[in-house]
Amino acid sequence: PDRLPVGRRRLRRALSFEVIPPRSPAQAARMPRLLKFLDSLGPDYLAVTSSATSNWLQGTADFIAEVTATTTLRPLAHLACTAGTEAELLGWIDHLLGVGVRGFLAIRGDYPAGQTSLPAGHLPHADALVSLLRRIENDNVACLAAGRLGIGVAAYPSGHPESTGPEEDLDVLAAKQRNGADFAITQLFFDPTAYSRLRRRAEHAGIIIPIIPGILPITDPRRLHTMSRLSGLPVPDGLLARFDGISDPASARRIGLDITAEHTAAILEHDADGLHFYTFNDQNTTEDLLTALDQKGISVSSFPPQPPPRRWPPST
Ligand code: FAD
Repeated sequence: PDRLPVGRRRLRRALSFEVIPPRSPAQAARMPRLLKFLDSLGPDYLAVTSSATSNWLQGTADFIAEVTATTTLRPLAHLACTAGTEAELLGWIDHLLGVGVRGFLAIRGDYPAGQTSLPAGHLPHADALVSLLRRIENDNVACLAAGRLGIGVAAYPSGHPESTGPEEDLDVLAAKQRNGADFAITQLFFDPTAYSRLRRRAEHAGIIIPIIPGILPITDPRRLHTMSRLSGLPVPDGLLARFDGISDPASARRIGLDITAEHTAAILEHDADGLHFYTFNDQNTTEDLLTALDQKGISVSSFPPQPPPRRWPPST
């Protein structure tokens, strides 16, 4: 805490995990075990993605209904402007509040291939979605009485691929904070110093919301290429070189998780606001990464737990 600059509001490190709503009966059958494991770690929230491949917000809402019925995890529903028109999103937000959601990650979503804007009737950007969520909250007395909604947004240590540069990224993050965002979660990044640079620049720009680094476990060089596709960033040669001459998958996995643990340790040294783990629904890999972190003296169970969530909706 002594290293926190004046004005920052963080009191403790946040811990969260991100999962994808199951896309097949076989995946659905594996989810209870994963949820039980994640619940045992006492995270602040469980982020549930939303995308075309998991039936958009219907998939997110159905899965969250299972999460709230079977665990004490607080769901954070990813809500993208791409998922529907503003009117459709209003209906989905209402539905998500109804299945127990008290937290949203407000994002724009990626444009469908070949498009450079969203169709008429859609909110154009995430900052507008943050405003919409705050408006709904203020207009809904029961919702407001249950406590403030938690609203997260996306941030980009290595820049958003469409943006003109770091200044635009900071302006956008500042607009999201101004419109009511409580915290940001970062896109994947390969270089731990990119995170500390973003934090420093954000502080200078008056951005005081926590910026929580997103950590994706590296399991093999292929995963690095997936990260590159998702983030729009080229894979640094030095990272690929760590796998040179390694042909067996078990060794590649060990090296990949070691690299991830090294990066995570470096990010925490820059006084990160917490850790957000992309699990890809893979329990073994998540467990192995936490073990690799333990071996570096980093235990997520030492992040002080939050009090258990209040039940929502109040009638259930
Ligand atoms: P925006 O903040 O709208 O930014 C997009 C671009 O527009 C940027 O270049 C920005 O500089 C510019 N911009 C922003 N606001 C304005 C404005 N007011 N005027 C002009 N230009 C502006 N996608 C999914 O589909 N489903 C998910 O579940 C999902 N989860 C994610 C989770 C995390 C933690 C992150 C980091 C990303 C996630 N994404 C998800 C991907 C995300 O939707 C993409 O990165 C998308 O391209 C941008 O989303 P955004 O919310 O940052 O958009």
